[in-house]
Amino acid sequence: EQLREERMAYLAGEKRIKAVTVCFTDLEGRLHMLDYDKKFLLSSYDNLTFDGSSIRGFSAQAESDLRLSIDWPAFYWLPADVFGPGKVLVFAEVRQRDGSPYPGDMRSKLKLFLDELYEKEGLTVNLANEIEGFIFLGRNAEQRYRETGEFTMVSTSGYYHSLPGDPLRTFIDMAAEAQRAMGFSNEKDHPEVAPSQFEMNYSYTEALIASDQILLYKLICRQVASRLDMTASFLPKPVTGVNGSGMHTNISISGSDGVNLFHDANGEEGLSDYAWKFVDGVLYHAKDLCLLLNASVNAYRRLDPHYEAPNQIKASGIDRGSMVRIPIGNARTARVEVRSIAPDAHPHMAIYAILRAGLSNAETDPSIRKGEETLPDNIYDAITDFRASAMIAEVLGEEVQAKYADLKEAVADRCPRKLGTLIKRAEVQFH
Ligand code: GLN
Ligand code: MG
Ligand code: MG
Ligand code: MG
Repeated sequence: EQLREERMAYLAGEKRIKAVTVCFTDLEGRLHMLDYDKKFLLSSYDNLTFDGSSIRGFSAQAESDLRLSIDWPAFYWLPADVFGPGKVLVFAEVRQRDGSPYPGDMRSKLKLFLDELYEKEGLTVNLANEIEGFIFLGRNAEQRYRETGEFTMVSTSGYYHSLPGDPLRTFIDMAAEAQRAMGFSNEKDHPEVAPSQFEMNYSYTEALIASDQILLYKLICRQVASRLDMTASFLPKPVTGVNGSGMHTNISISGSDGVNLFHDANGEEGLSDYAWKFVDGVLYHAKDLCLLLNASVNAYRRLDPHYEAPNQIKASGIDRGSMVRIPIGNARTARVEVRSIAPDAHPHMAIYAILRAGLSNAETDPSIRKGEETLPDNIYDAITDFRASAMIAEVLGEEVQAKYADLKEAVADRCPRKLGTLIKRAEVQFH
């Protein structure tokens, strides 16, 4: 409440700001933005409404009028050289008529869960995502792909390359600067394994902020690329024969004293029993989770261990073909890395579900870590597992479970069922 008053006073006094962009996501994790005139927002912040029936996955007629409740801590200045002067953005929660959280709003779900975890058990979830993407020539590359079936790379280079004057480098520099300006603590930025592919890493932070940062990262990349007449694409496998794009998610949990509960110098791979219990929970529920982590037809083309994108439901310190890998860490950085996630997943939904799985206290046998099983190799099998999952019903509620599965099935039905070598044009969707 105090923060709200502070922020509102700041907005009122900041002459450069004329409008405020209010953000939320649909059921598939697409970022939606409404620009409110500043004066209107300041006078009506407690009565913002929108028509939910036009938002994908929010479709039921009865729900058509929904409310937005501004989440004042999640307030960002957008860098002027990329977005233009005086632009600010704030996230909002979606609420029902009576003010209660809207069940399709995954950001609210994640937030409530994290708040509860902190209040009841003093736990904080820390998250760092490694988001990969491709840069293609032309700001309309994805639309053009639908017409021509072709993407044009802006660079021929690969991992950590240093070609002079490379457009991929120009993009990475500009995007990393924009991230710093928005408060990301960048660690390293580099061209990735595939030609014209990039990855920018920034420090771990509290899970809600980190999930918001995934949306902001993609927003920044798209905007910067567009300025350079390029397209930043987060399709999981836009080009066959080379690596796809993943969104490895590094997770640890700390206690109220700030100590990393995942660390144990004497534990297997330097992880505590608590951390291994978390890993086992994720592996145990791998098939329940799969559709949320790999949410598009195209994501299943990425899941190939030959391209460092694991489909094996197992955990390992070294093998990058494992769904869960344990990177080298110390008391502060000990963590687990979930690798089988694509960058077009709904960040808040995927992370919420992973946390519920990891903390589910499932009865597991440590042999699950050596698992022989694999994730589904196509979205239809993932949808079937998802629909049948009691865990998902409990975590998301039956209504959201059914809605999400229906939505995914409808999209998948627009793509040919058989997995070919080429991506199908209907797969190309902005995320
Ligand atoms: N691109 C790989 C993936 O799809 C990861 C490769 C890497 O980070 N070295 O997950
Ligand atoms: Mg990485
Ligand atoms: Mg990488
Ligand atoms: Mg990684």
